[in-house]
Amino acid sequence: MKILVINAGSSSLKYQLIDMTDESTVAKGLCERIGIDGRFTHKAHGKVFQKDVAMADHTAAFEQVKEALTSGEGKVIDNLSDVTAIGHRAVMGGSKYDRSVRITEDVIQTIRDYASLAPLHNPAGIKGMEAAAATFGKDIPQVAVFDTAFHQTMPEVAYLWGLPYEYYEKYGIRRYGFHGTSHRFVSARCCELLGKPDGKGTRIITCHLGNGSSIAAIKDGKVIDTTMGLTPLDGFLMGTRSGAIDPSAVTFIMEKEGLTPEQMDAVMNKKSGMLGVSGVSSDDRDIAAAMEEGNPRAQLAWDMRSYQILKYIGGYVAALGGLDAIVFTAGIGENQDKLRAELLEKLAYLGVKLDAEANRVHGEEAEISTADSAVRAFVIPTNEELVIARDTKALI
Ligand code: ADP
Repeated sequence: MKILVINAGSSSLKYQLIDMTDESTVAKGLCERIGIDGRFTHKAHGKVFQKDVAMADHTAAFEQVKEALTSGEGKVIDNLSDVTAIGHRAVMGGSKYDRSVRITEDVIQTIRDYASLAPLHNPAGIKGMEAAAATFGKDIPQVAVFDTAFHQTMPEVAYLWGLPYEYYEKYGIRRYGFHGTSHRFVSARCCELLGKPDGKGTRIITCHLGNGSSIAAIKDGKVIDTTMGLTPLDGFLMGTRSGAIDPSAVTFIMEKEGLTPEQMDAVMNKKSGMLGVSGVSSDDRDIAAAMEEGNPRAQLAWDMRSYQILKYIGGYVAALGGLDAIVFTAGIGENQDKLRAELLEKLAYLGVKLDAEANRVHGEEAEISTADSAVRAFVIPTNEELVIARDTKALI
């Protein structure tokens, strides 16, 4: 059985074809600059195929995917009918979806209804679903896997804010959390590594550190709190996002700088975080290199992020009533051993003992705490595509 996993953005579409007999990736690729000038990348048989090709919309992008999968040097299947089902990354499932679902007209309508809470992501997701049906035929089973679903176990005390309750009732203003598929994957693996595959009795903190970053507190295998909120802007400093700030700073800056809500949104989402503070880059490798050269603002951004992460971890240890394991994942979490070492050394008060040798690992699963550490620490590479493929298989 082969499952196609789709992650559709407003002008991009990532795909991965997974063979479920051994969960191997058969081919993957990326359509970029859809509706602009168009760039297409396909990887199969250990080779990379790239071309500039105009793709007017997501359906045109799917045509490129179809052609690459079924013909030429990168061909991996004979016919589209060799694809059994399609699994989509869907971002905002609101309070309605606490798990993945088969896509129907009703599901698409619900995702559309939530578009006011996720104006960039949800309409793009729908485009991906509709374009997939146009290319593969409307009878192909499709599944939506929501970024928010795994966080739906959060209690009210964690997901509500101290605003008038009517805004929650009228507009659904609350913490939803994101990266749920990743937190779910790595926490489930962590439970296995702890010898408690059902998660019962475990207290885990998962740190997804990438361009966008979030941390989740997971008790008995269920999320009890997470750093991202109504949108993926909440939490701590990310590549270009501010994370949590005093909300009054927003109205103050808007007034002083004469910014519209859209412009202020762009400041907080695209010009802030590591980029905004350092003035160097949003990419962690650039920040680390600038720090090596003694750039004080790069150092400041780095130190601010570490401090904020440590405050969240401390808060979550209190919420969990203790800690059994901490997990690092995503681009920075899997690769940035300097950051992991710094954080774990500062968590020594919890009885965490870093295994400096094991911590040299990049992009591979490893236990990075010593055998006598009171709290175990792991690097667990995330694999959101595999979760989407597994959920899709289970639902069809
Ligand atoms: P996203 O999926 O949110 O776009 P990723 O999880 O791919 O992001 O993470 C991207 C971040 O990971 C970038 O800041 C990048 O610098 C960092 N990163 C990737 N590889 C390495 C590495 N080998 N060493 C340090 N940082 C890395």
